Amino acid sequence: MKSFYELEKLELLIKNNPSLIKAEQLAQVPVGITELPVWGLTIGSSRPGLPVLALIGGIHGLEKVGSQAVLAFLHGLVNRLKWDKNYQTLLNEVTIISIPIVNPGGMLLHRRSNLNGVDLMRNAPQDAQENIHFPVSGHRISSHLPWYRGRQGDEMELESKALVQFCQRFTDQSPFVLSLDVHSGFGLHDRLWYPYGCYNKDFPDFDQFARMYHAFSETFPYHVYKTESQADSYGIHGDLWDFITLENQRRHAHGTPPTLIPLTLELGSWRWVKKNPIQLLGKGGMFNPVKRHRYERTMRRHYHLFDFLLHACANYTFWENDK
Ligand SMILES: [Zn+2]
Repeated sequence: MKSFYELEKLELLIKNNPSLIKAEQLAQVPVGITELPVWGLTIGSSRPGLPVLALIGGIHGLEKVGSQAVLAFLHGLVNRLKWDKNYQTLLNEVTIISIPIVNPGGMLLHRRSNLNGVDLMRNAPQDAQENIHFPVSGHRISSHLPWYRGRQGDEMELESKALVQFCQRFTDQSPFVLSLDVHSGFGLHDRLWYPYGCYNKDFPDFDQFARMYHAFSETFPYHVYKTESQADSYGIHGDLWDFITLENQRRHAHGTPPTLIPLTLELGSWRWVKKNPIQLLGKGGMFNPVKRHRYERTMRRHYHLFDFLLHACANYTFWENDK
C-alpha cells in the first residue's frame, strides 16, 4: 500500500481517537494498481440542526502545508477534548467536518493536479466573468499544462465530487456552515479569500461574513490576514467553493438556504522562498516552509484563526441577526 507522511499522520489520528473521530472513506482514488482513500472526518455531535465547521486541505497536491495545518489543529483539538470540559460542551453544540487531504494522488506524486491532470479547484462547470488571467484562471487546452479544468461537459473528478457531496450533506441538515480550505502560494501575505471567484459581486451571505470578520478583527487586532474576495486577486473558472455556494442557493431555492461562508486561507509562500531561495530546487519547495523553525512557526501562526472559527460557528446566531 502506497502512502506518504500526511496520510500516515491522518490515519494515525483516526486510529488513536476512535471515540472522538468518525472517519469514512468518501472516495478511493486509483494510483497505478492500488488506491488511496479520501478520508472524511466528523468530530463532535453530528445531530442535524447544529452549525458546522468544515476544515479542508490538500486540494492541490503540492501544497502539503495546508493539510499539515488542518491536521495540526485537529490533533490539538482531539487531545484537548480529552480533558477540557468547556471544549466537550462546545463540541455538543457544533459539528466539525474535515477532509484534510482531498487530493491524495497528487500529494503522493508531488503534483498540483490530481492524477488525471485536472486542477480540482478549476473543475466545476461555471465560468468566471471577471479578472480572468490566462492560463492561471483555468483552461481546457491540455492536461499537460497546469490549471487544466477537465473537458467541457465531463463529470467532475472523483475528488471534487467527494468534497462537494460531503459539504452538501451538511448544508442539507444545518442552518449554518462555515468552511476553511487551506492552500499555499500566491504572494508574500497570508490571504483570506471569500467568494466569489467567478463574479465581482458579493456572495449571498456576505453580510454575515462581514459581521463575523469584524468580530475577528476586534478580537485579534494584530492578525496577519489580507482579506478580499477571490476575484479581487484573480478570477477562477470552475472554483469548487463558488459551485458549492451557487448550488446551495439552487438546492434551497424554495425555502431559506442555510448560511454558507466558504473561506480560503492562502498562505503566502513567496515569503518562505524569499528567505530560503535554495528550497525551490526541492519538490514542492515553492509552496511549503522547508526549514524546521519556519514550518513550526506556520503551524502556530494560524491556530487562533481555526479556534476563532470554531467558536464563531458555535455562536452563529450572532452573525445572523437580520436574516
Ligand atoms: Zn492551492
